[in-house]
Amino acid sequence: MDPNREFHELLGKCWHDLVPNDWPHNRLLPIKHFKCTKCDIYTNSCEADINPDYAADPRLVLREMDRLGKLSAFMMWLWDSESCEDDLGNVLMSGESFLHLLDYILDTTGKLRDEAIKFMKEIKDDSTI
Ligand SMILES: [Zn+2]
Repeated sequence: MDPNREFHELLGKCWHDLVPNDWPHNRLLPIKHFKCTKCDIYTNSCEADINPDYAADPRLVLREMDRLGKLSAFMMWLWDSESCEDDLGNVLMSGESFLHLLDYILDTTGKLRDEAIKFMKEIKDDSTI
């Protein structure tokens, strides 16, 4: 399965499968219309435009985690092995860990998305995260 689609569906969102809309009045319009076969939305966009590319823009991954209220947990999960806590339990992030974070955010091959897929599968099995 396309990892972008896998992550999108783990978020509970529809990975739109568009077909041309056959409304009769569509012939009068210069714009092509499409309909999703799964959720019945109508759009002027093609599938490549309407389904997100989480690899090309890793910020989308972070926004989705934030929307779920899981951004902090995801960040901790991702960098837990490289973080340490002070005596009060506050997590201290080293400069090296910060650069590691930037690597994920700047990468456009899907590293952050792939980690988010692992995280989402893990939290499905563990309600404490
Ligand atoms: Zn859809």
